[in-house]
Amino acid sequence: MTCKEAFQEISKYLDGELSEELKRALHEHVGRCAHCKVVFDTTVKTIELYCDGKLFPMPENIRNRLHDLLRRKFHERAV
Ligand SMILES: [Zn+2]
Repeated sequence: MTCKEAFQEISKYLDGELSEELKRALHEHVGRCAHCKVVFDTTVKTIELYCDGKLFPMPENIRNRLHDLLRRKFHERAV
């Protein structure tokens, strides 16, 4: 999995659309890529903060904010 793919998968993760297989692949990538780990950790922590462990459904405004954050974080490094 490339960083770009990981970014897309984190985005899907936010929407609760990630299969178990992709989740494993994502965790694997995050385990060896410091950049994606930071993005992933930030995103997951924010989800947990808002949803108190219950991942979904997440309020749409919060999900949109996370998507924005994700895009910004990703492009900061990708450029
Ligand atoms: Zn990466």
